[in-house]
Amino acid sequence: MADSVELFKEQYPSLESYWRAIILFGRNVATYKFALAESLLELASQGKTEVTLQELAVPYSKHLCRHLEEAPKQVTSASSKFLTACADFNNGVLNRQTLLDTTVSLGFNNVIDAFHIVNGAPIPIEFYKKDYSPSAKKIILTDEIFRLKETPHAENYDAEAEARWHLVEKAWELGISKDLMFVRYDDDGRRLYVIESNQRKNVTSARNALNGYQKGKCFYCFDGITVIQGLDTSCDVDHFFPHMLQPHFPDVNLDGVWNLVLACKPCNRGEQGKHAGVPELKYLERLHRRNEFLISSHHPLRETIIQQTGKTEQDRIAFLKMMDRRAIDLLIHRWDTEQRAAATF
Ligand SMILES: [Zn+2]
Repeated sequence: MADSVELFKEQYPSLESYWRAIILFGRNVATYKFALAESLLELASQGKTEVTLQELAVPYSKHLCRHLEEAPKQVTSASSKFLTACADFNNGVLNRQTLLDTTVSLGFNNVIDAFHIVNGAPIPIEFYKKDYSPSAKKIILTDEIFRLKETPHAENYDAEAEARWHLVEKAWELGISKDLMFVRYDDDGRRLYVIESNQRKNVTSARNALNGYQKGKCFYCFDGITVIQGLDTSCDVDHFFPHMLQPHFPDVNLDGVWNLVLACKPCNRGEQGKHAGVPELKYLERLHRRNEFLISSHHPLRETIIQQTGKTEQDRIAFLKMMDRRAIDLLIHRWDTEQRAAATF
């Protein structure tokens, strides 16, 4: 086996990746983030750097009013005073100035601070800074948003935010998880189809096979686990690259055994658990070693892993690197945990 020390190098998300992660993986309790994203793109196109909340309210409320016309559900909560104002404006019972004043006073609560949060933590760059000095509340657009506008395919960002916005609205309307949905356009690119993806497949049959390698230890922290279910120490079958990525990687089978490990409950879903984080590189190396072991020991899963990840070890390293790149590009944050017992594999 190749020396794994140098195999996997840290990969940092690009500017485009940060932007897309906000659009795709920011937490949604309201669609305000999409309205803000589209407003930022618009203001950057106009070359604006300092934007008061009064100025920001103009494109921001315009986008929300437009969406409300077609999709009444824009928040997960029962109601919102701000959205009621937008609806009243659409219905002609509120004038434009009152709408803008209401937007300034109510429409930006949370979204200005939450915009840069992805998977529970802020991304390391900012597309704007908040300046709420008493004289005028405003945001300062940073170089990053202007650099974003210079990147290849920058003209698509607006359509991407729109597509995601439609998807989130549709998911709320249908009462299903947005992570289980794909968006498809028909040929003229105008009408939108929403397709619910296959339910998560049952991957637990892999449990015993994986335990042959892990021998009763959590893949991440080496704490003791058991394949017998119903106990405190019962293991979870964990997707190394989170299953929520599946709609974004239609070419890859994330339910494949190459991507499955056994983990203790705290690592898989505890408070400090992995959830939608991308495991640190030491875990990626560990996964690679595990897969190579199963292949070299002529394990029954050998052919499956080869078929899913590549014919040669070099191919398989390249595959895992590619997966790591794509995952960190979308999910941004690395996940790590402390080792709780001696390493045994
Ligand atoms: Zn663990």
